[in-house]
Amino acid sequence: MSETLFIADLHLDKRYPRAVAAFERYIHSLAGQDIDALYILGDLFEYWLGDDCTDSTAERVATALSTYQQRSGTPLYFIHGNRDFLLGEDFAARCRMQLLPEHYVINLYGVKTLILHGDTLCTDDVAYGQLRQTLRDPQWQRKILRWPVWLRRLKAFYLRRRSQKANREKADAIMDASPQTVAEMMQHYQVRQMIHGHTHRPALHRFMLDGDVYYRSVVGDWYTQGSVLTVGAENQQLIDLPLTEI
Ligand code: MN
Repeated sequence: MSETLFIADLHLDKRYPRAVAAFERYIHSLAGQDIDALYILGDLFEYWLGDDCTDSTAERVATALSTYQQRSGTPLYFIHGNRDFLLGEDFAARCRMQLLPEHYVINLYGVKTLILHGDTLCTDDVAYGQLRQTLRDPQWQRKILRWPVWLRRLKAFYLRRRSQKANREKADAIMDASPQTVAEMMQHYQVRQMIHGHTHRPALHRFMLDGDVYYRSVVGDWYTQGSVLTVGAENQQLIDLPLTEI
């Protein structure tokens, strides 16, 4: 039976070789399986400074994805996360994956489904929302990408330190999806199902709204295990993969 796969928040980084190796093994393990599509819902990388300064981790990811895509013909899709929002068409092409807009509606076995990274659901975090406006501004991005790599590295370091400091001071609930925003977004896109990552709180949520049933599936991160959402025509499943055994 064929399935569609969703992953997010792998945060791949050469400082954490276990997750990089696990990702390679996982992609390799898909060969020969009946996969309709693989969606990567953002934060594939811990950070991204531009397609012109890839490191060995990025090269390994590109090789794994492009080899799999070429052999299987399975379409690969990518939505930016809040870490790798600068990932561009060049690198996407090298991975043989297609970039999708930040909010995207797909037909998932007959169910209209909104897919997204998930940071836009965390609207209680007002400071992040403001910062995001800058980070996602195409003009700002073009400017940053003209900077020399050392300066981009410095900027990324500064942004990361600032967000770590801010996040330590934020209540847990602020960094989760706002139920009100979830409801509003699903109504705006006229869907009953949404799939995202970002919050690192893997779960299959089901809730009622005005007498209708809604579904929100959250994919987990790859810090201590792999996390994959598999969706088939009949059911969906959140799967944990031990990093050492993938
Ligand atoms: Mn994220």
